[in-house]
Amino acid sequence: LTLFDAQAVRAEFPILQQQVNGHPLVYLDNAATTQKPESVIEAIADYYRFDNSNVHRGAHALSDRATEKFEGARNKVAAFINAESSAQVLWTRGTTEGVNLAAASWGRAHLKAGDRVLVSAMEHHSNIVPWQMIAESCGAQVEPIPVDDLGVIDLDALDALLDERVKMVSVGHVSNALGSINPVDEIIAKAHAVGAKVLLDAAQSIAHWSLDVQQLDCDFLVFSAHKMFGPTGMGVLYGKRELLDSMPPYQGGGEMIESVSFAGTVYNKLPYKFEAGTPNIAGAIGMGAAVDFIQGLDRQAADAHEKQLLQSAELALNNLGGFRLVGCSPNKVAVMSFVADFAHPQDIGMILDQQGIAVRTGNHCAQPIMDQYGLPGTVRASFSLYNTQADIEALMQGLEKAKMFLA
Ligand code: PMP
Repeated sequence: LTLFDAQAVRAEFPILQQQVNGHPLVYLDNAATTQKPESVIEAIADYYRFDNSNVHRGAHALSDRATEKFEGARNKVAAFINAESSAQVLWTRGTTEGVNLAAASWGRAHLKAGDRVLVSAMEHHSNIVPWQMIAESCGAQVEPIPVDDLGVIDLDALDALLDERVKMVSVGHVSNALGSINPVDEIIAKAHAVGAKVLLDAAQSIAHWSLDVQQLDCDFLVFSAHKMFGPTGMGVLYGKRELLDSMPPYQGGGEMIESVSFAGTVYNKLPYKFEAGTPNIAGAIGMGAAVDFIQGLDRQAADAHEKQLLQSAELALNNLGGFRLVGCSPNKVAVMSFVADFAHPQDIGMILDQQGIAVRTGNHCAQPIMDQYGLPGTVRASFSLYNTQADIEALMQGLEKAKMFLA
């Protein structure tokens, strides 16, 4: 048994060492965004202090340094997800832009009237709406894969939905609203058996365990840097090479072209074909530093630590009384979504905030599953590796107070 030293890791996160509303900050909104370690903050600051310049211009020393760091970060991310090649790692603004790119570009090339796209009923809006937009433009349909009361995808229902008209199955690896870990190996195998492609939304799983795109055999993988200790406004779309080669550019501009003339423009090679304009250079470098940070951790021990936090928090919540867990998949990450029988989630969130405790309340951009459960939203406490038992104790004290004031 390896013990995870959460206190030592916590010390690397300057933001956590502060008081909020007169109380030590208890940050339990990690599914919305994780905090950044000193090493990531430094990597971004150093780039702006010493190397800031435009990339791929090769005109001078600073530009060479910036390009080296920028492409070095791409190589780090490619190795991190075991991509066949760095050319298959496209920089995006985040998960949302990754899905939009795949839906708009792959969809434009491959979807036609009568085709079907399946997404799970508990998807984040960013893995529903882009598919609806492209489907609407070409006469395809987007249909939900049913999810049961526990928050588990119904694989028998998926079998019944799958036929040769299904061209894409786009699913989250982990639900941000409920914490459910989806059986993606089975989903990918089933989709491939009818010839459908699979996009995996790894926004909520990338921080928790190692992903290997070749082993997963997903066709696309999308995730955001800011949910894995990196900066906001930065993310990745990985795609299989033959798919990326078959897709038209997403945006036009500088960098994505080989040559431009009014007689006809020739597009650049991968990954640049999909990277129009000056990119988020500092963001890429920060994401590379986040990969370094994660690879310096004992991830198994971190995962065990988070599981233990979840178990302990769920037990304590049940013991408080008056609260009900939403999403009880037997296979969950450390996300605790719950409602109270005496108050609205927003009111509970406000009382917690007054005590320096940050949680998320609302529908978590997953309105369809909230509608299915007949809820306007939930309170969501989501844990990361720098959270400790003391955070759970503070949360429980906060919830006791909420009960006292609101019940
Ligand atoms: N998918 C899931 C499962 C998410 O949790 C999120 C962020 N809450 C997104 C997609 C969207 O990510 P971003 O806002 O970073 O683009």
